[in-house]
Amino acid sequence: MFPRVSFYCIFLFVFFIESKCQEDEEEDPNQNIVRIGALFEVDNEEKQLALNLSVQFVLTQGLLPNYQLETLFEVTKPDHPFAALSSACNLLKGGALGIIGPPSEENANAVQSLCDFKEIALIQTRWDAEQQRDLTSLNLYPYPPVLARVFVDIVEAWEWKSFTILYENKEGLFRISELLRMYNSSGHTIVVRQLDNDNSGDYRSTLKEVLKSGQTHFIIDCSIDNLNEVLIQAQQVGLISSRFNFIITNLDLHTIDLEPFKYAEANITGVRLLNPENSLVKVISTAIHNHNSQENSEPPPGWTVQLDVALIIDAVGMFSAALNQIVGMENVKFKAFDCETEDNSMFGLNIITYMKTLTFEGLSGIIKFDNKGFRSDFSLDVVELNQDGLIKIGDWNSTEGLKISRVYPEAIPTNELSLRNRTFVVITALTAPYAMMKKSEPKLTGNDQYEGFGIDLIKELALMEGFSYEFKIREDKANGQKQPNGEWTGMIGEVLSKSADLAIVDLTITAERVEAVDFTSPFMTLGVSILYRKPTKAPPSFFSFASPFGNDVWITLSGAYLCVSLALFITGRLSPSEWNNPFPCIEEPKYLLNQFSLRNSFWFTIGSLMQQGSEIAPIAISTRMVAGVWWFFTLIMVSSYTANLAAFLTADTPLTEFSSVKELAEKAERSGIKYGAKAGGATAKFFETSENPYYKKIWEYMASHPEDMPKENIDGVERAEREKYAFFMESTSIEYEIQRHCNLSQVGGKLDEKGYGIAMRKNSSYRHILSTAVLKLQESGKITELKRKWWEERGAQCTGEEASQEAPPLDLVNVSGIFWVTVAGTVLAFVFVCIEMVLYVFRVSLRYKVSFLHELRQEIKHCFAFDSSTKPVRQKLMPTPEEESEKCPENGDNKINSEYGFKPEIMRE
Ligand code: GLU
Repeated sequence: MFPRVSFYCIFLFVFFIESKCQEDEEEDPNQNIVRIGALFEVDNEEKQLALNLSVQFVLTQGLLPNYQLETLFEVTKPDHPFAALSSACNLLKGGALGIIGPPSEENANAVQSLCDFKEIALIQTRWDAEQQRDLTSLNLYPYPPVLARVFVDIVEAWEWKSFTILYENKEGLFRISELLRMYNSSGHTIVVRQLDNDNSGDYRSTLKEVLKSGQTHFIIDCSIDNLNEVLIQAQQVGLISSRFNFIITNLDLHTIDLEPFKYAEANITGVRLLNPENSLVKVISTAIHNHNSQENSEPPPGWTVQLDVALIIDAVGMFSAALNQIVGMENVKFKAFDCETEDNSMFGLNIITYMKTLTFEGLSGIIKFDNKGFRSDFSLDVVELNQDGLIKIGDWNSTEGLKISRVYPEAIPTNELSLRNRTFVVITALTAPYAMMKKSEPKLTGNDQYEGFGIDLIKELALMEGFSYEFKIREDKANGQKQPNGEWTGMIGEVLSKSADLAIVDLTITAERVEAVDFTSPFMTLGVSILYRKPTKAPPSFFSFASPFGNDVWITLSGAYLCVSLALFITGRLSPSEWNNPFPCIEEPKYLLNQFSLRNSFWFTIGSLMQQGSEIAPIAISTRMVAGVWWFFTLIMVSSYTANLAAFLTADTPLTEFSSVKELAEKAERSGIKYGAKAGGATAKFFETSENPYYKKIWEYMASHPEDMPKENIDGVERAEREKYAFFMESTSIEYEIQRHCNLSQVGGKLDEKGYGIAMRKNSSYRHILSTAVLKLQESGKITELKRKWWEERGAQCTGEEASQEAPPLDLVNVSGIFWVTVAGTVLAFVFVCIEMVLYVFRVSLRYKVSFLHELRQEIKHCFAFDSSTKPVRQKLMPTPEEESEKCPENGDNKINSEYGFKPEIMRE
């Protein structure tokens, strides 16, 4: 940098040589016109427009009522002092009474030396680290050392103990020098990184490095032209998410498009000098916005012109106000200067001195200077980015410091929220099949290195909702447990501490967890069950022939045999057709014999049952009916027995050690079975909180045997494979494991019903969207497809083997029909036998002309004389007693028993 005076001397000499031939200056014809000039460095239309608008501003505010204000400007090259001086001289030549300084440091210094020399008022609007002010100059930009205090106050209010400062250039380093001092004074850990070392415009490498460093608090200092790009690239590498906190030092943060970052939930804090609610700021901002966008519309809410543009208007306004104080009503004629003459301005020093004493209300708030000429007394709005844009959350001013008055809730749940442009940090654990390392050569990096059900599910959700994600792995595989001090461990803890936004794994939705975090709708349902070794084969039992029928069937079968045999015996006796001549060669037997004696009846039925038959052949309809029904019964029963016996002989009868939790709880100690569940998991919690006496007993055992509570499911599975160890596990995981460990099986059903969900912080704005998306995936069958992929298609080995070969004995219900048919047939046989008997008695009573009832009584009496299987035969067509007495004299031997009509000597057995 040139020393100012020497620089000016060289310049003056060159300029003098160049212009020594020029004519003497002409008189300015407009002597009551006041001109102010501005030096711009790039052809910045906004600044030129602001300069024009400033005339309007002075006029409407009545700042210089007796003069006509005109503005001039020159555009020069940045950091090109010769060009800047030449432009400044042009402004002076044009009659500028004061100059609004150029932005770049070297140009500003050169013009400053000219203004010092010519005693021209120079009003700077740029950030300037200079600790001194020249007599003829003033800077409207807030005094940097005071401005730096704002960020120190915010860091302290936010209680940041360690942070990384990302700066763009050496000016930035100076701006944050106050923050660097915190390292010494309060022991903060501060890392300082330059955003772009090689000026390539690629900040990603630095941003990735700071991301990897694990730091979550950042202060970004960069020009407004590059700030947007820095934030975009930070979002691309995953830094703009709820885990991360930023303070942006640029006072123009509100002028860039923050729409892409609004929903990222990153904590972005900034400050602004211009108040968008100020009516003057609104008017000027609208005019410039309309000029830029070529249409008449309101600028976006919160948007204002940039600070350097607003400060040009303030500079012109304040200059006019000061000049008005000096020259007021005097109607002074101002003349133009030439750089090559020795003339000085009479007003420059006065204007600056006056400006220093003024308190002026401009676009950038109240402008006043301290006795050293610094704008050290100013107020700022502290703003924070949320879904509604930048919201004012507090004030800062140089006397009272920071006052935070946050009034909006941390997250506003809304259904219309979009997840586009958001990046989530998704925590998971390498628990198969939810997340696993992909086997590939060369080694993959980033999200590509993982695969599994949970990984695919997040991928599907991201495709649907348009968010990006980055997986983070929880090494200890702890899903999350509430500690006695109320803090949460595991993945739930990480979500709560904001080191992750979402957690996906076999994460069970439990009442306790729902109090701490939110879950999406469950993407899978399951229940607690038991994983245990498959039962071994039992040796055949001594009475295995009895196995095809259940006990009840055997008992009922015996009852049926007894009843049918008796029914046959009774119907046989009652049926007249069953009483036969025992000696076929004797035409007129003395007695009749019934084949269905008690012994014969039982023999007949057992013969049929054994499929062997007997010599006995029923004759009467009723006995044939009983026999027929019994044969049908035996046909069915024997076939069922034979069929089931075949199944029993081929089936492996498993030797089950226990078949339910209840049995396990009772038998475990006796039979030396150990058991457990994943330590700190939802299954262990289920037993811990259960009121069921068996579950309580199980929890007592678990609590006193931590060695049986593995840290990971896979340890429990391997132990169950090796020893007598029952592992309580969730049914979905059991389903997965038994397809890969063929000697394991699930014992009993599910003990409860619950589901897995994706966890996120309470009241997360995206919960509803993710829940809806999970439901949509369920309805479309995508989740079922993913489950099939990861459970069955990838690595299942034991499919088809698991169906139990055990054949169940037939129960009564299986054969009850045939029993009822037998009962019905037997009852019908009794009806038939009654009819047979009535018909027979009726015939006899007609033939022998005896009373029907008398004959019936006689017949029944004989039939129910169970002690004999014979019955006296009725004499063949005997003459009536009268005929008999006519034919032969009364003979005691031949006398017919008047009661029976039989001969009295008929034998009985
Ligand atoms: N899913 C369980 C949890 O979220 C872990 C496994 C278990 O407890 O069986 O804690």
